[in-house]
Amino acid sequence: MAILVHLPSFMAVPITALLREAAPDITVWNGREAAVPEEVEAIIAWGLKPGVLPAYPKLRLVCAATAGVDKLLAAPDLPQDMPVTRIVDPGQQTGIAHFVLAMALRHTRELGVYAGQQRRGEWKRHRGRALSGCRVGVLGLGEIGSEVARMFAAIGFPVAGWSRSPKHLPGVADFTGEDGLDAMLAQTDILVCTLPLTPQTDGMLDRRTLSRLPQGAYLINVGRGEHVVEADLLALIDEGHLSGAALDVFAKEPPAADDPVWTHPRIEATPHIAADPSYELVAQQCIENLRRARDGRPLLNQVDRQAGY
Ligand code: NDP
Repeated sequence: MAILVHLPSFMAVPITALLREAAPDITVWNGREAAVPEEVEAIIAWGLKPGVLPAYPKLRLVCAATAGVDKLLAAPDLPQDMPVTRIVDPGQQTGIAHFVLAMALRHTRELGVYAGQQRRGEWKRHRGRALSGCRVGVLGLGEIGSEVARMFAAIGFPVAGWSRSPKHLPGVADFTGEDGLDAMLAQTDILVCTLPLTPQTDGMLDRRTLSRLPQGAYLINVGRGEHVVEADLLALIDEGHLSGAALDVFAKEPPAADDPVWTHPRIEATPHIAADPSYELVAQQCIENLRRARDGRPLLNQVDRQAGY
C-alpha cells in the first residue's frame, strides 16, 4: 500500500513528512522517481500532466491537495470511474472569509484612497458608507461561499447568494438559475466569486454579467481566474461602471509581466493567498480515504465528477 505525493516541493516536503508520521504502515514516495509504480494506490496532486496516471496500474484514488479540482479533472487520462477527493478544511474557509472581508472593508472604508493620499501628503476626509447600505452578493454558497456569506451577514452587510440549489442560510437571500443570477447582480454592490471552475462557470463574469451590476459595484474574486474575462472587467472599470476589483486568482499565475493587473490603479492583485489548506488535514484525509477505498467504504469529500466540483 503506497501513496505518491505529486506536488510542488514546497507542499510535497511537509505533506510527505506528515503522511509518514501519521501512517507508518503506508509507504509514501515524494516524487515519481523513486516510486514503485505497481504499489501506488493513491496520488496526492494539484494537477496531472498527460502520461502520469497510466503509469500506476493499481491506482484506486486521486486526492486533490486543494479545495478546487479543476486542474485535476482536466487531466486527459483521468479514467471516468477514478474516484477523486478534495480538501474541505474549515480553517481554510475561515481564512478565505477573513481575506474577502478585509478586501471588502478596504473598499468600503476607502483605505486604498487614503494610502494614495498619504503618499501625496494629502489630508482629506471622505464620508464613509454605512455597511447596511452596501449589498453583498456571493457567487457559490458551498463550503467557502457559505462561510463568506455568514461572516458578511454577521457584521451587518445585507447578503445574498447564488448557487445551483437554494441554501436557506440564515440572513442570506437565496438566488438560483440564470434569472436568479441577473436579479442578484442588479442588487449587488460587492460581488464575491467563490465558485468552482467548471464548463458552466468558465468565463461567466464577462461584460454581459458584470454590466448587470449597479454603477460603482466592486468585484472580489477568490474562485479561479478563468471565471473573469479580464479585458471586460478592466474595460468596465475604465468606463466607470465598476469601481474596481480585488483579484486573488488569475487565469495565468503569475500574470504576464505586461498584464495590466500589475499596475491598474483600481485593481488589488494578490498571489492566490486567500488561504491555504492545512497540510495536516491534506495528509489525514488522504490516509483516511485510502483506507476507506480499500475497505469499500464511502469516501470523504468525494468530487461529483459529473458536476465537475
Ligand atoms: P463547493 O463545492 O463546496 O461549493 C461550490 C458552490 O458553487 C456550491 O454552492 C455550488 O452550488 C456552486 N455552483 C457550482 N456550479 C454552479 C453553477 N453552475 N451555478 C451556480 N452555482 C454553482 O466548493 P468550495 O466552496 O469548497 O470551493 C469553491 C472554490 O474556491 C474552489 O473550487 C476553488 O476554485 C476556490 N478556492 C480558492 C482558494 C484561494 O486561495 N483563492 C482556496 C480554495 C478554494 P450547489 O451548492 O447548489 O451545488
